[in-house]
Amino acid sequence: MFDIANIRSQFPILSETVYGKPLVYLDNGATTQKPQCVLDVVNDIYMHKNANIHRGVHHLSNVCTDLFEQARKTVARHINALSDAEIIFTRGTTEAINLLAFSFGETYCRPDDEIVITTMEHHANIVPWQMLCERKKMKLRVAKISDKGELDTDHLYSLLNERTRLVCVAHVSNVMGTVNPVKQIIGKAHAMGIPVLVDAAQSMPHKNIDVQDLDCDFMAFSGHKMYAPNGSGALYGKAKWLNEMVPYHGGGEMIEKVTFEKTTYNQLPFKFEAGTPDYISAIGLGRAIEFMEEIGMDNIERHEHELVKYAIERLGAIKDLRFIGEAADHSSAVSFLVGNIHPYDTGMILDKMGVAVRTGHHCAQPLMDRMGITGTVRASFAIYNTKEEIDKLVEAVERVRMMMM
Ligand code: PLP
Repeated sequence: MFDIANIRSQFPILSETVYGKPLVYLDNGATTQKPQCVLDVVNDIYMHKNANIHRGVHHLSNVCTDLFEQARKTVARHINALSDAEIIFTRGTTEAINLLAFSFGETYCRPDDEIVITTMEHHANIVPWQMLCERKKMKLRVAKISDKGELDTDHLYSLLNERTRLVCVAHVSNVMGTVNPVKQIIGKAHAMGIPVLVDAAQSMPHKNIDVQDLDCDFMAFSGHKMYAPNGSGALYGKAKWLNEMVPYHGGGEMIEKVTFEKTTYNQLPFKFEAGTPDYISAIGLGRAIEFMEEIGMDNIERHEHELVKYAIERLGAIKDLRFIGEAADHSSAVSFLVGNIHPYDTGMILDKMGVAVRTGHHCAQPLMDRMGITGTVRASFAIYNTKEEIDKLVEAVERVRMMMM
């Protein structure tokens, strides 16, 4: 049974007030709040178990190492990876994509090669590829989107050719909530021998993900957007690529043997985990995944789908409000503008009414340029949100309109 009151009671922060009003937290696309079970795991390690992993022979080090490797198994199982070794822990999506851009780029890319991205990418899935293109004298090709914020897949396919080394695409747009047909894109790219990275930062918290079914080559995601501690996340990669790729950072657990003449590297996944990883956050990520699985990914998806549908319906009835992004397949985030009111003004007034939304370009400036705007107001949902909270958002937006127009 899906019990929203029970779910909400597990998030201590949801009983906070802001300016004397109950907190309505609709900024989940930026980061989610953490349930007690995740906070407890982190606290328990700091209080009773903490020691650096992998390098110790002593008891606590072994306890933490086991918990860290169990968390890797949990992530691998959750996304149906073929093996635990295909999960590289990172601090989040940004670090995962930077790792890939460096290691994939150094291993497989040459001058005049091309990387294909889309207009709706987060800067984290643009800038590392631009940096690679500058370094290697390659070209970045960008697939167009429609006025409704849907990907022009025909245009994307027309960009694929024998020079394309990688396609990098968001599963869900962090601004518009557009769900991209990644399985179809992967199928088309693979037919031409081109691997695909899926940026799952905005899909993993909301959907059942099966990397073998999608057949993606790489996937990046952030733990803090799915109820886990900050500093957690991962890069999934098929072992056949990861085994061939050169390491990203040097030092720590990524070595096999070091001499001044030559260093050899550890096996997967350690080859890509230099230095002390944020093992406590990674363990927290494992617990957060269990928390989501206990609720059930289908229940999460169904509940959030209803919230988005309700938000679109109710916000859509507000005079002078227009949505940025009206894709048919829509997930978890809704962006809008009211008349010519600046999004910051809307956000600040909503805040005074206890409603937390995000305003601005959402780290997607090229998308803002495409839509001819400088920013949006974005409400983004999580498992603990309710229709009553959306009513409060709508009421607050109405107030903003009355005050400012
Ligand atoms: N990609 C997308 C689609 C995002 O929404 C975000 C964060 O908002 C990122 C990448 C970057 O994630 P992080 O800051 O956790 O590395």
